[in-house]
Amino acid sequence: MKNLSSVFLISVLVASLAACQPEDDSVDKISADLILSNGKIVSVDEAFRIFDTIVVTDGKVVELGDASLLEKYDAATVRDLDGKTLMPGFIDSHTHISGDPKRYIDLSEVTSITEIQDLIRAKALELGQGEWITGYGWSEDELAEGRKPLRGDLDVAAPFNPVTLTRAGGHSAVVSTSALGLAEINNNTPDPEGGVIERDENGVANGIIRERQNIVGRLVPESTYDELLASLEINLGDLLAKGITSITDASTAPDEYAMWEELYAKPGVNLPRSAVQFQWFDLEGIEEAKARSGEGSEFLKIGPIKVFADGGFTGPAAFTKEPYLNQGDYRGYLNMPAQDLVDHITEIHDAGWQMGIHAIGDAAIELVVDTLVEALLRNPREDHRTYLNHFSMRPSDETMEKMAEHGIHITQQPNFTYTLEGRYVANLDGWRLEHNNPLRSPMDHGIHVAISSDILPIGPLVGIYAAVTRKGMSGRVFGADEAITIEEAIQGYTIKGAYLGFEEDIKGSLEPGKLADMIVLSDDILTVDSEEIMNIEIEQTYVGGELVYQN
Ligand SMILES: [Zn+2]
Repeated sequence: MKNLSSVFLISVLVASLAACQPEDDSVDKISADLILSNGKIVSVDEAFRIFDTIVVTDGKVVELGDASLLEKYDAATVRDLDGKTLMPGFIDSHTHISGDPKRYIDLSEVTSITEIQDLIRAKALELGQGEWITGYGWSEDELAEGRKPLRGDLDVAAPFNPVTLTRAGGHSAVVSTSALGLAEINNNTPDPEGGVIERDENGVANGIIRERQNIVGRLVPESTYDELLASLEINLGDLLAKGITSITDASTAPDEYAMWEELYAKPGVNLPRSAVQFQWFDLEGIEEAKARSGEGSEFLKIGPIKVFADGGFTGPAAFTKEPYLNQGDYRGYLNMPAQDLVDHITEIHDAGWQMGIHAIGDAAIELVVDTLVEALLRNPREDHRTYLNHFSMRPSDETMEKMAEHGIHITQQPNFTYTLEGRYVANLDGWRLEHNNPLRSPMDHGIHVAISSDILPIGPLVGIYAAVTRKGMSGRVFGADEAITIEEAIQGYTIKGAYLGFEEDIKGSLEPGKLADMIVLSDDILTVDSEEIMNIEIEQTYVGGELVYQN
């Protein structure tokens, strides 16, 4: 039989304990799905707060705090971060992901023409004579030979296969002699509208076609649906290893969307979240897409309409205010007659769509901004969030002031400063060379600037490195006054990208109620020497609280 006084004493003790530490009761811990603790958790919230522990349930962040959360919560999975840095997954707000045909070779990592030839030889052997071989991603700046591959280089590797290899950036291609023959292009063929068939000093086509490589590419046989679907799953899944948990794909055609929908409906696939941008075709196509845009989910949705204003620097074909360096009075060109561009932008704006507009040269940027301002003044749209992709040349201060005033945003690729250094040095000089891919100046003007990759290359750490160092591949610094801080670069690749997708309330930072899309890094990105940023490894990637990649 219990002693009454001791029962009384115990209840007093329990009552007083409860009063001091209301949550210290192991029996009543709140159950969660996942707890990651003992880390440096970079929340990217408004105050850029750092936490020790994060609690996740049903794919969403429940609470962040110090280690005492371990006493408040219990979870099926509790992991010790061992002091490692955890941050929101990268949001790549301008990239290009698609399924690859069997005839495709990836050239993004090649470092010599010899290596390109080896890949062509292997593919020709796999496919057999007469089959087209395609590829993407070479850049003469990264080739040991220090020059572009030419048709003779391709002919040696595969004399009996037509070959077309697109340069990184997508603005030119090298094609083999057999491919030129099938396209009925000879030395006398005039340049196609908006493009250039490059010729050597004797007027002989050297195999390089700028901007209009589709005059050859259109002959490549179509791939099967299943072939592309399987490849799309692999290519999207590979992004998780780069720490990318959300993308905006900038080049999907409306009729390709069904493949994305099928893939995302597949059970058990590990994929980043995607928004796809349809390229502008016609108003009818846009209205059709609009009718479907409500079908999206947190995993897949239709993004803004893509419009191409001008070319790129790999041609070069970006539309500039002043002539290119040492190229006479050549200033690049718009992708279509100026009035057509103005009409298209105005039409899409009036139809109520957000746009992501490709504008690289300063003249293209200023024309697009002026067009948007006019459309907005005539037909104001609250929170339109239309943005420019690229913004590679710094326009006038007046243009940046207009952008800030009218909420015209940017998604920019500081990684271009690194990977396209050779192109900029060859085509620009002085002030406009130093201010390529400006970040500090548009941000100081009050413009919202997100950061993205445009797959040049796809890894976000290259862009973050270049954003804080302003360094090209050679180590040369371009316009140090355009550098931003590591915190700003991280915001550009996370919360600011979410904002362009109208998703800043559900992702882009780690805060209670938001999706638990997050990555664990091998080093502390906030304090590591800037020269080491590109060497940071992605150790784990979580999408919606699920571990989808483990190094
Ligand atoms: Zn792009």
